[in-house]
Amino acid sequence: EFYLAQTNKYEHLNALLHTFPEEALQRATELDEQRAAGKTAGKLHGVVITVKDVIAWQQHPLSASSNILKNFHSIYNSTAVQKLLAEDAIIIGINNCDEFAMGSSNENSAFGPVKNMLDETRVPGGSSGGSAVAVQANLCMVSLGSDTGGSVRQPADFCGIVGVKPTYGRVSRHGLIAYGSSFDQIGVLSHTVEDASLVLSVIAGADDFDATVSTLPVPDYTSAIAEKRSTKPVLGYFKQTLQHAGLDEEIRTTHTNFINQLKADGYEVKELDFDLIDYIVPTYYVLTTAEASSNLSRFDGVRYGYQATPVKEELTEFYSANRSEGFGKEVQRRIMLGTFVLSAGYYDAYYTKAQQVRRKLYEQTKLVFSDIDVLLMPVSPSTAFKIGEKSSNPIEMYLADIYTVFANLVGIPGVSIPLFQHSNGLPFGLQLMTKHFDEVSLLGLADALL
Ligand code: GLN
Repeated sequence: EFYLAQTNKYEHLNALLHTFPEEALQRATELDEQRAAGKTAGKLHGVVITVKDVIAWQQHPLSASSNILKNFHSIYNSTAVQKLLAEDAIIIGINNCDEFAMGSSNENSAFGPVKNMLDETRVPGGSSGGSAVAVQANLCMVSLGSDTGGSVRQPADFCGIVGVKPTYGRVSRHGLIAYGSSFDQIGVLSHTVEDASLVLSVIAGADDFDATVSTLPVPDYTSAIAEKRSTKPVLGYFKQTLQHAGLDEEIRTTHTNFINQLKADGYEVKELDFDLIDYIVPTYYVLTTAEASSNLSRFDGVRYGYQATPVKEELTEFYSANRSEGFGKEVQRRIMLGTFVLSAGYYDAYYTKAQQVRRKLYEQTKLVFSDIDVLLMPVSPSTAFKIGEKSSNPIEMYLADIYTVFANLVGIPGVSIPLFQHSNGLPFGLQLMTKHFDEVSLLGLADALL
């Protein structure tokens, strides 16, 4: 009841596209009754959760915040949702997001932007902006987002909360609407590292419905991180990330001072050379738009969603009308970019080249983690910016993803933790990354530092 009241109180932030008050209360009552009748409580008994509008929940709306899927209802549960429900969670609503998870500000939703609770003239970050604000404004205890290039970590950073992107393949993507399939991963937004760890323990693990998900056993992250608290992992940072010209001066100094503080606290911190930094964003946008152009070809108005009226007789015109009216501007831009880099004559120059860079990044990353345990980085070059400030300049918006897309390019896990406050009054955080499937070290250090 508390959380449902909060959703009413903060409705104007536009963090939730749908809430299900009666269903939620009924489920809460049922869970209480089951418990009273002697049934063991699940790990998330009574935990109030919201999920991003790209994660399928049976018989509930699923639109990717796009007009092309407006009024579409999922006929099945994503594996992540299935697992939450099996552990007695109560899902109360669906989070607004950037259309098809494309964006860094949540301004690309067909259903209006989400507002940052700390300053309603500012963006909450994206694309999981609704999931971040839902936690920030206490509309739920934790939320699920998806992270293809930072969409969990960056909105967490802008909203002053915790955001965890697991290793690629840690959480099943079954029932997650695909953006860039080789990058996408479901993540958790929460107030504490412990909360995120508990939810991750529930949603992670093998799944017959996703061939890319790992069969590695899932640790009990909550108890594993508690054990980690006494150890001091070897830390490192890339010299080039803090030297980057686009980085806000105050964020730069804060990070530099924090690194010095860590050293003073007895951590070993290594400065590393990483000369591929300028290739990260271009590589990410070539590869993800390529994958998106292919993934989104299924939305043609025949199998799913929006059909333009009057219905066009000629097939190409039919597709074109449905897709031109159904998809928003940013999604169309990316479909065109992706189609371009995959087209005959340009494929080798862009797509193949970007794949080669991705492989190089992967190999360098392996070397990095033979030297250190945890990599430190800013999350975003700035704090939350004004609504409308960057929306007319997509390149500028893309470049701001510089610190987050790296983890997705190489598949490693990352977390952002809200450690700092800017003199402009807004929060910003520290990003930690580890080698693949080392979430225990990642969350352990995050918990120790927060
Ligand atoms: N901002 C990045 C993009 O627009 C990341 C999005 C995401 O992680 N879903 O692609």
